[in-house]
Amino acid sequence: MSQILRNGLTILRQGGDKMDCVMCKGLMEAKTINHIVDKDGHITIVKNVPALVCKQCGENFIDNSVAIKLEELLNKYSNSNVEVLIVNYIEKVA
Ligand SMILES: [Zn+2]
Repeated sequence: MSQILRNGLTILRQGGDKMDCVMCKGLMEAKTINHIVDKDGHITIVKNVPALVCKQCGENFIDNSVAIKLEELLNKYSNSNVEVLIVNYIEKVA
């Protein structure tokens, strides 16, 4: 399994929801997480991002397709002058 790190996220190149945690081999659980990006003092919080969360160590893994959409969302809102911006992933993407 290969993984890359982008925007502080561990992104899996392989899909599927049946897998072990790459950190501790623990059981992964499909959940939604809040992804927080701090860019030049502008904080963007993206809520309800679908992810796999390790039941054992709490490590988050985001599917590549989700990561691409997340990046598009962040680019879209990166010009905002608001200091803290909260975006709901499910509302904006689904
Ligand atoms: Zn783990």
